[in-house]
Amino acid sequence: MIVLVINAGSSSVKFTLFDIDNNKQVLANGLIERIGIEGTSMKYSNHKGEKFQQPVPVKNPTDAVKVIAEYLVDAKYGVLSNLSAINAIGHRIVHGMEKISKPVLLTKEAKDIVRECFSLSPLHNPHNLAGIEACEAVLPGVPNVGVFDTAFHATMQPHVYLYAIPYKWYTDEHIRRYGFHGTSHEYVSKAAAAFDGRPLKDLRIITCHLGNGASVSAVKGGECQDTSMGLTPLEGLIMGTRSGDLDPAVVLHIMKLTGKSPQELDTLLNKESGVLGIGGIGSSDLRDIEEAAGKGNKQCETALKMFAYRVRKYIGAYIASLGGLDILVFTAGAGENSSTLRAGILEGLEGIGFKLCPKKNSERSSEIRAISKDDSPIKILVVPTNEELAIAEFTTELLKNKA
Ligand code: AMP
Repeated sequence: MIVLVINAGSSSVKFTLFDIDNNKQVLANGLIERIGIEGTSMKYSNHKGEKFQQPVPVKNPTDAVKVIAEYLVDAKYGVLSNLSAINAIGHRIVHGMEKISKPVLLTKEAKDIVRECFSLSPLHNPHNLAGIEACEAVLPGVPNVGVFDTAFHATMQPHVYLYAIPYKWYTDEHIRRYGFHGTSHEYVSKAAAAFDGRPLKDLRIITCHLGNGASVSAVKGGECQDTSMGLTPLEGLIMGTRSGDLDPAVVLHIMKLTGKSPQELDTLLNKESGVLGIGGIGSSDLRDIEEAAGKGNKQCETALKMFAYRVRKYIGAYIASLGGLDILVFTAGAGENSSTLRAGILEGLEGIGFKLCPKKNSERSSEIRAISKDDSPIKILVVPTNEELAIAEFTTELLKNKA
């Protein structure tokens, strides 16, 4: 089974081509960026070690998929003899509202739902749909499957997902908590159970996806019970540039003080806040913040403490929500790579079952691994996430079941 995974964003199309039956091998991957703006270019690499980055004449997603398809069968850089070798295309789609709770074949009805969610996800769903339509045009007859960021969280119950505002905002405008990063939370919780050797259905797991965007999920028996992101990815943890949770009155107060518009507030909270806003060194990258804190920068020190403390608060809340905990998972850029962050989050929590092994925590690896002491009541794992592979696997599973 050869599966092409497409992640179409506002100005980029990312792709990965998998040979699922051959040990899930990545045959080729890359991206076309700055689509529709000056300097459009393509990065491409294949399993033979060949790679390039060069300008490409791409003005829209259809051009982008055309160029990707051309390179996949190119005489020099290609990895397929014919495009008909592609069995399916898996698409990353951000929002499926309450209507989509698992991967789906992208029929007309499913695409209508992607379109219905434009108002809830204006920065992502329109581009995701453009990517689907581009694939339909360039690779006709190949089934397209949608894997939705919100789908894994569809098992949350009303008392978890509702905001305590008048109910009509939920019924009339669909305002509720949806959660994001679902593909990653699902992938790492399954991988954690497989690594641990216990059935997923018996486990209570907290997954901490700590990247530039960050969220925590409480997973019981393989189902999401709660997650920290809400109507949009702004709720929850402190992130690279997002504030995460705050008193809603802060927004009203800033608006009253400054006369800023909703759009300006959106930019302030999504793009100028988080560790970028607190650290004050012009970077949202935790590596830079850690380096500056190491040199004595107090604001960066505080930013790191705030980031870790917010994660720790969510872990505490989710232990209560799950009624205990078997496995804690760290994943994504900072979760996988920053031993300082992991140690900061778990500092002083030995007494409630988190026995972190400092030696294992400090070892670097790109493999799934335990970083807790052997006698730790709660297993602490680092699980590298792989959203592209998860999308390819979901796509394969769906098509095999249909067949
Ligand atoms: P992601 O969004 O999963 O790609 O994660 C990217 C983010 O992970 C970066 O912006 C950094 O903040 C963080 N990150 C990656 N590597 C490290 C590292 N070695 N130490 C600390 N943070 C890291």
